[in-house]
Parts: sequence; C-alpha cells; structure tokens
Amino acid sequence: MNSEPLRFDNRLIQDLPGDEETGPRVRDVRGAVWSAVMPTPVAAPTLLAYSPELAAQLGWGPDLLESADFARVFGGNALYEGMQPWAANYGGHQFGHWAGQLGDGRAISLGELLAPDGLRWELQLKGAGRTPYSRGADGRAVLRSSIREFLCSEAMHHLGVPTTRALSLVGTGESVVRDMFYDGHPAAEPGAVVCRVAPSFLRFGSFELPASRGDSALLRQLVDFCIARDFPELADAGAERHAQWFAQVCERTAVLVAHWMRVGFVHGVMNTDNLSILGLTIDYGPYGWVDDYDPDWTPNTTDAQGRRYRFGTQPQVAYWNLTRLAQALAPLFDDVAPLHAGLARFQAVHARCERDDTAAKLGLDACRDADDLALMADWLQILHDGEMDMTLAFRGLIDFDPQAPDVAVLEEAFYSADRRASVLPALQGWLQAYAQRLQSDRLDPSQRRQRMGAANPVYVLRNWLAQEAIELAEQGDLSGVHALQDVLRRPYEVQPGREHYAGKRPEWARDKAGCSMLSCSS
Ligand code: AMP
Ligand code: MG
Repeated sequence: MNSEPLRFDNRLIQDLPGDEETGPRVRDVRGAVWSAVMPTPVAAPTLLAYSPELAAQLGWGPDLLESADFARVFGGNALYEGMQPWAANYGGHQFGHWAGQLGDGRAISLGELLAPDGLRWELQLKGAGRTPYSRGADGRAVLRSSIREFLCSEAMHHLGVPTTRALSLVGTGESVVRDMFYDGHPAAEPGAVVCRVAPSFLRFGSFELPASRGDSALLRQLVDFCIARDFPELADAGAERHAQWFAQVCERTAVLVAHWMRVGFVHGVMNTDNLSILGLTIDYGPYGWVDDYDPDWTPNTTDAQGRRYRFGTQPQVAYWNLTRLAQALAPLFDDVAPLHAGLARFQAVHARCERDDTAAKLGLDACRDADDLALMADWLQILHDGEMDMTLAFRGLIDFDPQAPDVAVLEEAFYSADRRASVLPALQGWLQAYAQRLQSDRLDPSQRRQRMGAANPVYVLRNWLAQEAIELAEQGDLSGVHALQDVLRRPYEVQPGREHYAGKRPEWARDKAGCSMLSCSS
C-alpha cells in the first residue's frame, strides 16, 4: 500500500545480523538479533481506540487514522510501504532464573518511523501472530490485556512516567482461548492487537542472550548499535562509551522505579526481558496500582508464592536486574570497575529521587535531612497500618492546614473503621509533627499545594476502573475505555463530575479477578 508521508528507516534490521530463516517456525536463533516474520492476518480488524496525542507526534492526522487501511495495517492484515516486519531475539532472567532464549513471541515490529520532529519511533504490534519465539503459544493477545496495555501506556505518559506508548487498539474479530488462572478453566475471549511505540524495544535480555552464548562479537555489535541509535550523545565518548552507557542505563532505571514508587505502580513481572534499556516502563501484563498502601502487595497471582515483584521491592529488583546486565556486559570490559561504578550510580540516583519525591509529595521546599526521610517513612507506615488508600491519602494531605491540624482531610482514604481507629493516635501524632515541619519550611501554602498537586495524581488506572471498562468492552461497548482514556489525560487535575474515577476501590473489587488478582495469562 502507498502512503507518501510515512518515512521508515529500519536501522535495527539494516545494521544488525538477522536470522537466515524467515517465517514463524519455532527455533533457536543464534548469531542473530532478529527474524523476519509477517503478522498473521485477522478476520475483521476494527479500530477500537487510538491515541490522538501520539498520532500527532508521529505526524499522523485523523484522515490516516480513520481510514480503512489504518485498521488493516494495525490489525496485521496489510503493510504501509517501507514496513519490514521482524521479531526480536532476546533472553531473560525470569523470577530469578536464567530462562534462555525468549524473544518476541507475539510482538512483531513493523518498522522505525522517522517522525516530522526528527525522532525515531519503532512501531510494534502485540498479539500479531506466531513468530520463531512463540514457543508453542499462539502469538495472540486477548482484549482485556490489550485494553490494559493501551490505557496504562498512555496514562503513564501523562503521569510523567517514562513508558512505551500505545498508538492503537484494534479488535481482531477472532477469539483466543485462555485459561486465565491456569487452573483448568480455558475459555474463549475476544482477541485484539495493540500497536506499541517506542524509540527502542531493546531490553536487558537482548544483551544477556548473546552473552549467555559466549558471542562477545554480537554483544559488542549490539551495544555499539544501541549507543549509536539510542544514545547518540555518547557516540563520541570513544573507549569510555561502554562505561558511560551502562551508567546511563543504571541512572534511567533508577529514575524509572522511583516514579513507580511515587505513583503507586506495581509492574508485576520485572524479569530482565521486561526491563527496557531506555528505562521505559515496558510490557504491561499483570501490573497493578496500589489502593490501600501495602509494600507487600503484588497483583500477579503467578508470583503470589514468592512475591518477588511486590510493590516495595521494586527498587531492589531493578538493582538485581542491573547486576545481571552488568554480568552480561563484563566481556566488553577489561576491568569491572566501571560496572561497579554504574551500579553505584543506580544507588545514588535512586536515593536522590527518593529525597526529591519525599519533598514533592509532602510539599517541602527540599528534603533537608534524615528527619524528613523519617517523616515520610512514618507516614507510609501509618498508611499501611491504617489500611489507607495511597492516592487519596496523599491528595488529602494537600488540604491539610498546619495551623489547625485535623484528621478530617484524610477521612476518605480509610477502607475500614477498625483500622482507622487503631491508627488514629499515631496519625494524630504524625500530623502534629508534619504541621511543625511545615511551619519551618520556606514554601508558602500556595506553593506547597502546587508542589504536592504536581507530584500526587488524582487519577490513576485503578485496577477496578480498568476492569469496569473491560467488562463493557467485552460486550462491544468501548465507551468505558474512551472515558478512562480521557480522564487519564490530565491525572493531576481535579476534574469536576469525574469523582467516580478518583474513588477508592469498591468492596466488590477487593478480591475480584482482574482487580486484585491478575495472572501472566493474557
Ligand atoms: P511476558 O511474561 O508477557 O513478558 O512473556 C514472556 C515471553 O513469553 C515472551 O517471550 C513473550 O513473547 C512470550 N509470550 C507470552 N504470551 C505469548 C503468546 N500468547 N504467544 C506467544 N508468545 C507469548
Ligand atoms: Mg515480556
């Protein structure tokens, strides 16, 4: 198909070795970073939702998005000129163990688009059919998980959290069979394809795979490619470039997880194949949002036993993943000191982010000392002990008046009267301490409110909100998806009439599948 305005420059497949075999036969792919494979066409591609913001950034107007061709291309039934589909080869540590070759089992990249602003955006379909990396699975994705990926990608972007983006959600008109909790209850569900978009989809596992096979030449080629394409500012660093690049990856990963902790996001499957080399949130699967503050909570039932990927351990897991990456990169270094320096950079940047977020979330001019960090730690302990809603509690604190300390501003955040009663004395004591701290702060009340308002979202993609939209969509009604998409465009602004989306988790959602329990089945 012809489409004059689109410019593709598919550097990954031009510059890096590809698999000699094409097509989806499942196989071990050695000495190659990608395999050419076409999306498998679907019965009835229908555009269900798209991101106008992202489309505009790509230089695409409504004429293109609403054309019949668009749904066909982004459902996997056609290509625009310049697209050359491929699946990427990578490995990964899953739940702490090396899992060998994984690769894009159901993601197929279409090309690298050069946008009018000069940026490069890889377009990738998720759920587009089998690839050499499908390992016996069907290469498809269900509507529910596609809606979750579509909405959350864009919500994260608007929250200011680094993330892959989502351009479109296309229904396939086909059903997909999934056993949601792997307990012998398979069911047919509607299928969908999301187009994700990012400057690069390289993951930690992209580098681990050639390293695990002792292929240092390919590893070096991949690192140098990544630097040249994705970190051009480091290209002139000569012999220092590998060290500087690793330090950059560590820094970005630190910033990323600090954002997750700030907004209450739990990734759910932080395997090294699911960590982006650019420090983007990638692979939205059984992720969740913290309702009542609980560092031990994980939405992922597949991880319910070990709880490796619970909310509170995300920074440590990110660090562990970076140590895996460092180990993979070791053959490129004569001396391991730069790798240690990179890991130390993670710690330093994460500590700095923690201080900055403490100041911003509590409305302080700066996080002055250990006392301020302790103030935050005590507050979080109270949220936990009192089973208080994280998002509502931080928003409530914005209305707190240090001249007249009063628990009233936090009433909405409680889930249970008993837990409220049990924590009340500690909370009153804390509010006194907070009031005192605010008296000695340099920010005036309106500056403080502004600072807190920009760090503490009103609207996040609460699990039960996504679930409501999914249940409607499964009946053919996309209005819930569109409404959520719209609310989540301005997550830090109170939007009158949209109180429903800022509310705490209703009782029906406490232990419901899709709300507090999600699995990797998607
Ligand atoms: P995830 O846990 O979603 O990151 O997936 C881990 C690996 O399984 C990746 O290599 C995926 O591409 C692959 N995978 C997950 N679901 C499917 C599916 N339905 N078909 C083929 N491959 C899949
Ligand atoms: Mg993955």
